[in-house]
Amino acid sequence: MKNTKSAELFLKAKEVIPGGVNSPVRAFRAVGGNPLFIKKAKGAYLYDEDDNQFIELINSWGPMILGHANEVIEKAVRDALSNSLSFGAPSRKEVEIAELIVDMVPSVEMVRMVNSGTEATMSAIRVARGYTGKEKIIKFEGCYHGHGDSFLIAAGSGAVTMGVPDSPGVPQGVANDTLTAPYNDINAVKLLVEKNKNKIAAIIIEPVAGNMGCVLPKPGFLEGLREICDQENIVLIFDEVMSGFRLSLSGAQGVLGVKPDMTTMGKIIGGGMPVGAYGGKKEIMQKVSPAGPVYQAGTLSGNPIAMSAGLAILTYLKSNPSVYSQLNNQTDYLIHGMRKANNLLGLDYTFNHIGSMFTMFFTNIGVHDFETAKKSDLAKFAEYFQAMLSRGIYMAPSQFESLFISTAITTELADEIIHAHTESMKQIHN
Ligand SMILES: *Cc1c(COP(=O)(O)O)cnc(C)c1O
Repeated sequence: MKNTKSAELFLKAKEVIPGGVNSPVRAFRAVGGNPLFIKKAKGAYLYDEDDNQFIELINSWGPMILGHANEVIEKAVRDALSNSLSFGAPSRKEVEIAELIVDMVPSVEMVRMVNSGTEATMSAIRVARGYTGKEKIIKFEGCYHGHGDSFLIAAGSGAVTMGVPDSPGVPQGVANDTLTAPYNDINAVKLLVEKNKNKIAAIIIEPVAGNMGCVLPKPGFLEGLREICDQENIVLIFDEVMSGFRLSLSGAQGVLGVKPDMTTMGKIIGGGMPVGAYGGKKEIMQKVSPAGPVYQAGTLSGNPIAMSAGLAILTYLKSNPSVYSQLNNQTDYLIHGMRKANNLLGLDYTFNHIGSMFTMFFTNIGVHDFETAKKSDLAKFAEYFQAMLSRGIYMAPSQFESLFISTAITTELADEIIHAHTESMKQIHN
């Protein structure tokens, strides 16, 4: 694979951008080699600066659920462009997207738009603290909620990939207010709540975890959290930045049937533009400024171009709900093919999968929390990643990520991926 232009750009980038990238996992540190600099993308394909073509299995870490450069979204953005890029004043589309979100996600009665998933989660816990008058939060090991100080404790995604689960620069005082429990361990949560009686403002969780690889909640686990939160006046926050509009029109909560008090959203909600949102019960959201005393603001929040893209993708999904069965079937087909290839080679690796999210862990034990995810053979993963890349398949450069299918992945492309997988597995187990 020709790589000269990307390699050159990376050398230059490292001089002027920390690590050469604007978000750590992009740097390929966990898999070796230099990252590819992407020039353009269309449908299921990415093209790098050296004109290599790749089939997409990461889709900008989730947002591009309809594939790249989708006509519907591009048109909405083009139509909005000539009316100015920003007003800093209320506009019609902000009302329309809020109405649409409230309609699509039943637990959300009011919503505030922000510019990233990180902003959404940071704001949500501030509101939960303001609402309950309590300060501590509980998060789960391996869950990632953006890079806010409170969340960089046992965080997944880039934080674990980089081997710095607890970041310098997070004040001890802030860290002290974040309690952590193993994912899927309801007894650990009960103990924490007992030990910190009347001190817990919120429990925040990825209802389907995607940032330690894809990890599903065990039956009864989310229900158990719901019960504890109801008993103890704790705000239950589902961080659906990844799973929202990915697993169903109403996210993971729509599939799993547990209602949170607050929900954070991002990724798909902007169709590729920098958008996030947090919302929930009216009683809680009325605490947000200027309706209430909890301050949260944004110069570019509700930006007209970003709202146009968001409205276009959400409207499309809502009027074409069969997108989800199509995505799910395609993902089932792909995973079936990959598993079958593994079986034929006598390999037994764990697949975790729901809807169009999946991870193959390089271990044969069941993966249900961060500890078990970490049993994966990371060196083998790195070899697999490179083997797939050299065959034109672009995956997340870390074992601790979920992969995504977009609607642009046809059965023919799924077959190509399965073929590349089979050859890659043969190569690395030789
Ligand atoms: C990606 C992600 C975030 C952070 O969103 P950004 O837009 O990257 O700030 C937060 N929570 C979850 C679950 C995510 O997957």
